[in-house]
Amino acid sequence: MFEQLKPVPTDPILGLMSEYKADTNPKKVDLSVGVYKNETGDTPVMRAVKKAEQIRLETETTKSYLGLAGDVQYNELMTSLVFGDHATVKANRIKTAQTPGGTGSLRVAAEFIKRSNPNASIWVTNPTWANHFSIFGAAGLETKEFPYFDFDTMGLKFDEMVSTLNTVPAGDVVLLHACCHNPSGMDLTLEQWQIVADISKKQGFTFLIDSAYQGFGKGLDEDAAGVRLLADQLDELLVCASCSKNFGLYRDRVGAFSVMTATAEQTEIAYSVALNVIRAIYSMPPAHGAAVVANILSNPELRALWEEELQEKRTRINGLRSYIVEKFKEHNVPGNFDFIAKQNGMFSFLGIDKEAIQTLKDDYSIYIVGSSRINVAGVNKSNADYLAKALATVLN
Ligand code: PMP
Repeated sequence: MFEQLKPVPTDPILGLMSEYKADTNPKKVDLSVGVYKNETGDTPVMRAVKKAEQIRLETETTKSYLGLAGDVQYNELMTSLVFGDHATVKANRIKTAQTPGGTGSLRVAAEFIKRSNPNASIWVTNPTWANHFSIFGAAGLETKEFPYFDFDTMGLKFDEMVSTLNTVPAGDVVLLHACCHNPSGMDLTLEQWQIVADISKKQGFTFLIDSAYQGFGKGLDEDAAGVRLLADQLDELLVCASCSKNFGLYRDRVGAFSVMTATAEQTEIAYSVALNVIRAIYSMPPAHGAAVVANILSNPELRALWEEELQEKRTRINGLRSYIVEKFKEHNVPGNFDFIAKQNGMFSFLGIDKEAIQTLKDDYSIYIVGSSRINVAGVNKSNADYLAKALATVLN
């Protein structure tokens, strides 16, 4: 039976990661995978996480099953982190389940959507995080794209986006990134969130918000402003959150799936469906990472430390964005890269062609994914000149 199987090509980003590891050039630069790096190119465990883990080691009393929804305290804390002290939270219209990472949350969302409307299509930004297609496809949902990023202006194609959303029917789902859009770094303004909220009221489609970078853009509350605007005004909403980046818990797999409906009673029903979906996929989420997050968010001292560390990351990324633009100017990289300083989060497109990307890898050991998306956090004071000089040579 297995002889019929055909090999599946490696995910291009994961492939680049292995090539980078094997590269012996001491000047090599990795701008590919979406992991935060500090000034020395490392991704250390956050101090607040280390402290919370110490507490957990001393206070954990059982390894017995956690339950389908995971850690109840974590679920409540994540509801407030994402939605704030919101009227709908108080009205019990939102319920959250702990999931294995943002990916696990998106898969639960996909199955949940399939149960709600087997014929639903899910609309994603063009471009979007490539795994969205695999996750929704695996649940048997058709994925469609709407215009989002404009490679000519390196900004949003907002008018085209609005025209397409005006054709999306009731029963379909529109996925937006809460902040720090992956891969473009271009986010909606609050006015634009209001416009799309109004379109959904008119059309009757439902939003699914992918929130993988809360705290990496402008601030914890600022990055959730779009989600909260929708939660304020709409009857129904799904949110998939990830703690991989903002708590640096990548490999511990910590995420959350939230469902909001028009009434507390309806939310109980929807939540029972979500738990039933979870039972059939992985039964229960892993305990460790979510317990660490719950420890941090519920302990004022640890929470303050975590917010401080998160702010350090955010400030570094935003500083790097202007620094990259400056360095590119200093070394006469052809083109205007000012847009990098205006975008949010870890990613931006350089807008360079595949040939240039290949030469950067072959001749300079600079690793960038094929779409020209760079991880801004991979740049630092010791490699920025090298990167800018290489780009100037390759593009001239
Ligand atoms: N959504 C987006 C847009 C992402 O960039 C990522 C991480 N690359 C995720 C979801 C999922 O993250 P994880 O499963 O690692 O929590």
